[in-house]
Amino acid sequence: KPRSCLVDDEEGGVLFYAAPPSSSGHGYSSFERLRQRLPVFKYRTAILYLVEKHATTIIVGETGSGKTTQIPQYLKEAGWAEGGRVIACTQPRRLSVQSVASRVAEEMGVKVGEEVGYTIRFEDKTNQGVTKIKFLTDGVLLREMMNDPLLTKYSVIMVDEAHERSLSTDTLLGLLKKIQRRRPELRLIISSATIEAKSMSNFFRTRKKNDGQASEDNGPNIEPSILSVEGKGFPVEIFYVEEPVSDYLRAAVDAVLLIHEKEPVGDVLVFLTGQDDIDAAVQLLTDEARETTRRHSGLLVLSLYSGLSRADQDLIFTPTPKGKRKVIISTNIAETSLTLEGVVYVVDSGFSKQRFYNPISDIENLVVAPISKASARQRAGRAGRVRPGKCFRLYTEDFFVQDMPVEGIPEMQRSNLVSFVIQLKALGIDNILGFDWLALPPPESMIRALEVLYSLEILDEDAKLTSPTGFQVAEIPLDPMISKMILTADALGCLEEIITIAAILSVQSIWVSVRGTHKGLDEVKLRFAAAEGDHVSFLNVYKAFLQSGKSSQWCYKNYINYHSMKKVVEMREQLSRLVRRLGIIPKSCGMDMQAVRRAIISGFFAHASQLEEYSQNGMYKTVRSSQEVYIHPSSVLFRVNPKWVVYHSLVSTDKHYMHNVIAIDPSWLTEAAPHFYQQRRPSIPLF
Ligand code: ADP
Ligand code: MG
Repeated sequence: KPRSCLVDDEEGGVLFYAAPPSSSGHGYSSFERLRQRLPVFKYRTAILYLVEKHATTIIVGETGSGKTTQIPQYLKEAGWAEGGRVIACTQPRRLSVQSVASRVAEEMGVKVGEEVGYTIRFEDKTNQGVTKIKFLTDGVLLREMMNDPLLTKYSVIMVDEAHERSLSTDTLLGLLKKIQRRRPELRLIISSATIEAKSMSNFFRTRKKNDGQASEDNGPNIEPSILSVEGKGFPVEIFYVEEPVSDYLRAAVDAVLLIHEKEPVGDVLVFLTGQDDIDAAVQLLTDEARETTRRHSGLLVLSLYSGLSRADQDLIFTPTPKGKRKVIISTNIAETSLTLEGVVYVVDSGFSKQRFYNPISDIENLVVAPISKASARQRAGRAGRVRPGKCFRLYTEDFFVQDMPVEGIPEMQRSNLVSFVIQLKALGIDNILGFDWLALPPPESMIRALEVLYSLEILDEDAKLTSPTGFQVAEIPLDPMISKMILTADALGCLEEIITIAAILSVQSIWVSVRGTHKGLDEVKLRFAAAEGDHVSFLNVYKAFLQSGKSSQWCYKNYINYHSMKKVVEMREQLSRLVRRLGIIPKSCGMDMQAVRRAIISGFFAHASQLEEYSQNGMYKTVRSSQEVYIHPSSVLFRVNPKWVVYHSLVSTDKHYMHNVIAIDPSWLTEAAPHFYQQRRPSIPLF
């Protein structure tokens, strides 16, 4: 039992004072000192006390204060993992799951996969009966509910990075609130760097009338407690540009070079938006450094984004050698999820990639959009970890003050809800809009999702999962449109081909990234190009890659991203195992590319578009909403412009571009989805 300490949790459970525990009696490992120096250590007893007494504890603390790596260890030390129980800690991103798991395993002196393990989609590094602390994505925890709705093996679930308000995090919080009613012994910790702690606390405090509580007397206090961990961040001086910059990538590179030239030692963290612009910036910086060797010697340029290999991840955390300066160019994963030691300078582009969904046009896009003020502050804060730092914002002060929103919009309100709906249906939750969510999903998006799922024959007219398709789709942890394509491919005898395509579509890109057009890359693409379109061209690339003996040299020569191809091979194996578990044996259709195209359409018929008859510039209109769209220049069908196409996704820059396009016969659309392409659709009971 944890010792109690001086805690005042009457007023909404706010903690005012916590007594530091005396040093523990057991022997010190080399990490013990480091652990005790983290801000969260002072609150160890308080945290354990609150978790003991309250069903829900909300912990707010600055990035790097030790929330993610320490709290699960404290819980384990206090006995929460005894008797076969497991402590779970969720993260919104796969990369941070792996990274924190290996850090915690290292601190505890154990191997990852034993006492400390992790699970991400398609990768389970846990050992049942042995693993006591488990890191996982919130998406994976949601999936675990399908087999174990009350998540009975967990004693404490820590939902980390809650301020990000990802779709999965919000879904999870809504469901956990329900689970708590049935399992008073379950403890929740909600932790984040910045949080509207009050609104989160209100969410867990209020209950709907018929929710009930199993045992008011012996159970924990249902009043959530809030604990704020004081960080010890150093001051950060903020600099703005005087004039708006037109090319933030170039501006970021220039800023790094300037810092390197003028500022004393200390690493630089640059926030860009995604793999493509990060790779481009790394390239620019490396070229630049090579040209002017003397001036820029000592610059170590590294990238940080979710598709990174383990070796590259490890480099990020390796201490900077003496006389060198590390430059880490990152997505917003370094905003709060990962702590990078040694950063003294931050360069903030002011942008991140964000999901936006328009239910009218049914288009979801990853758009490069301005971040919120809250994000900008977090980014700046990353410069003050080790000593006073500097943050260079590549936007004007006016822009910060007037144009940046105070906070971001929760993802639930700007996402396509197809996967969300299917997951809840699989959990038997029918009244989705009547459910208690932190932010209500927009009804228009719900209607769209239900329509799409109905036309995919995943939901029936009563909005229940169909059998077997609906239930099988729910089992496959992929976008339902891809899952549907996989199931149809089985019937059409082309599953071998379709899982290759599914695997390739799920990696960022199989091509090396270049900025703008690139002659060499275009020539290589032509070599693999198939008249049917990108998906079939992917099959050609994959075949050639296998024939090369999966050679990295071959990839290099052909502008193909070796790292992506390795992931494709891995993912393919996992998909193959997964469908076998559903009782499906993959078959190949040989050269029958019509079967492949029909399978694709069975999942993606809603993404059909038709070339405008007299269009000079290759303008298409989507069949669904008559939206103007164009084939992306990276597609093998760019300039070919077949009359009818189906695309995988849309990307908006100056125009809406269709990414990964395949030519089709329009009659296949009505065959694949008669309801969808009929004038009048049957009305589906929605709510
Ligand atoms: P929080 O979750 O509060 O942001 P963390 O628990 O992630 O903080 O990190 C606490 C400290 O542990 C960091 O300040 C850093 O010094 C250290 N740390 C975390 N992960 C790593 C890692 N992979 N390598 C080295 N140090 C790490
Ligand atoms: Mg953390």
